[in-house]
Amino acid sequence: MISEVISVGTELLLGQILNTNSQYLAQKLAELGIDLYFQTTVGDNMERLKIAIDTAVKRADILIFTGGLGPTSDDITKEAVADYFGLTLVLDEDVLRRIEKFFERRQVNMPEINKKQAYVPEGAKVLHNKNGTAPGLIIEKDGKIAILLPGPPFEMQPMFEEQVLPYLERFSKQKIYSRVLKFVGIGESSIEEALKDLILSQTDPTLALYAKPFEVELRITTKKESEEIAKSLLQSMEDRIRERLGEYIYGVDGQLLEEVVVSLLAEKRLKVSIAESCTGGLICNKITNVPGASEVFDRGFIVYSNEAKMKLLGVPEQVLKEYGAVSSQTAKYMAQGALSNSLAHIALSVTGIAGPGGGSETKPVGLVYIGIATKDNCESFEFRFSGDRLRIKDMTSKAALNILRK
Ligand code: ATP
Ligand code: MG
Repeated sequence: MISEVISVGTELLLGQILNTNSQYLAQKLAELGIDLYFQTTVGDNMERLKIAIDTAVKRADILIFTGGLGPTSDDITKEAVADYFGLTLVLDEDVLRRIEKFFERRQVNMPEINKKQAYVPEGAKVLHNKNGTAPGLIIEKDGKIAILLPGPPFEMQPMFEEQVLPYLERFSKQKIYSRVLKFVGIGESSIEEALKDLILSQTDPTLALYAKPFEVELRITTKKESEEIAKSLLQSMEDRIRERLGEYIYGVDGQLLEEVVVSLLAEKRLKVSIAESCTGGLICNKITNVPGASEVFDRGFIVYSNEAKMKLLGVPEQVLKEYGAVSSQTAKYMAQGALSNSLAHIALSVTGIAGPGGGSETKPVGLVYIGIATKDNCESFEFRFSGDRLRIKDMTSKAALNILRK
């Protein structure tokens, strides 16, 4: 079975929104092992939508649409598909009741135009929408399958996971299984060097490296009929990689560095406080994004000016004058100040030049110092990052989290 994703929406063609639905669906289809040869994007226009359907029908068996299921007159996906397959739209009382309930729960009257969403092509299977009013649809006609999903990702994704995935599973042959190992504190080329033999001889599973700011992902992939065989293959490859580079691997799959840091600190029952200059609160933000951060996070200091560094953290004026705000000495004083002015066991500090201005020959843009202080010890580390302001801030926050990880 060959699939095609058809994204409907003039806003996609105008570049006003990014087509994340097609990315999401392509990933899901790849995991299912269902071939996807073409993705089409078409505007909210009946004539061109029909051309897109006709083209897709000639080269694919499963057509997956997103968008254009809303109640307004520009939403025409359902009408176009029904018309193309020669199906009439009939009022589905059950769907109508669900839409009415949706509005009742929000204590607003259902606008008359929403009734349009309760009409479904005869014989279609209805997919309930728990986050919106537009139901999804599965239509089987003339050996073809059309799956219609709402445009908003928060409506589309749960509908896909819960109702479309179980339906599509019958068409998947060999599924794709993969595991992502996440590295920090080591470059792409060093990883490649250490795994040269594995990378060169790879057939199954395959290995693919992907460099991101201050971290690298390594995806291990295999295509198998049996989940058990696939998982054990992935595990043994992961074990071989960990033997060589385990210390740099902070997590797998969707795990974030800050999640790992929070759980490590929680395990050790340690609290941290953080003093940030160039990152302006980014590290605190990342840590507090993790549920359970209150167990490990005491407080943060955003000390952008020299005055703030002196007043809030007690960095001596002399140190700022002699070595500068971006210096190893200042980073250490900041960390010590954050420790003594808080209830934390560990304090971390960052100071750096995020650019684009403010750099010099001796202190270029991207120069960053990260300090760490405990009761008995205080150290600082120097980094030289490159890129624009946001990238430097992002890399700095990851470097800082990685220091906390250790
Ligand atoms: P609604 O009931 O909100 O009108 P709909 O099913 O008619 O839903 P659209 O009108 O096409 O969907 O899109 C509604 C919103 O959903 C868009 O403004 C956009 O935010 C999001 N959206 C639509 N298509 C996509 C897509 N391909 N990728 C990401 N977001 C999308
Ligand atoms: Mg719409």
